[in-house]
Amino acid sequence: MNTCASGGRLIAPGRDWRILSGRIKTWSRIFVNQPVTTETIQAVVVSRAEMMRYHDPERIQAYCQSCEKYGMYWSCPPFEAQPFDRLADWSHGVVVTQKTPVVAASTPADLVDQFLVARQSLGERMLQCEGEGALAVIAGHCFGCGACTRPRGIACCVPARMRYSLEALGFDVTGLAQGLAGQTIPWPESGLPDHLLIVGALLCRDFDLATRRAGAVRLSAKLAAPQELARRIS
Ligand code: SF4
Repeated sequence: MNTCASGGRLIAPGRDWRILSGRIKTWSRIFVNQPVTTETIQAVVVSRAEMMRYHDPERIQAYCQSCEKYGMYWSCPPFEAQPFDRLADWSHGVVVTQKTPVVAASTPADLVDQFLVARQSLGERMLQCEGEGALAVIAGHCFGCGACTRPRGIACCVPARMRYSLEALGFDVTGLAQGLAGQTIPWPESGLPDHLLIVGALLCRDFDLATRRAGAVRLSAKLAAPQELARRIS
């Protein structure tokens, strides 16, 4: 099973369990309406070989075709050339998981909103901890711009801000989370899960850097002020 969140849509291929929300809400409204939740962050250093056990682009990218945002972001399939093959060399990864409790009495639409907020939170954290020699791989589609240029047929306007997701690179997110981080993405048979699990990664040029970046991610979970984190990891 693989998961992806794009445009307010959660997908669980295989079981075909979906929560759809056609409504687009502004981030400000989401933040105002949703109570603050407590997130648990975990960062695990793994080798490239360990991550590659869960790399299956053909199968994983096929799931993307059922997403309503398919082809709408340069960071997402379909690709003319596999982005994985064009990544800078990396030998280790930091698999980052963020466990966020679902607010009590949520509706499916609420759950989508909470997922989007949680994945934005993890994405910002990953970018903050990236630094030279590491590439953040965020959950869901790129949020480098307010609106991607792809639907207008224009090349990515800020390639330096573009980030792929694990799914877009062909990784089985459920496999990574379970096999390398010991975390299970909850997909209950009925009703809503009691928590969300968002997964990202930092692809690092060597083991030492991966260890430092994993420490930065753990530190970021304790520090509220981004400036303090930037000062400590610089
Ligand atoms: S940086 Fe902007 S234009 Fe480029 S892929 Fe991301 S959203 Fe699209």
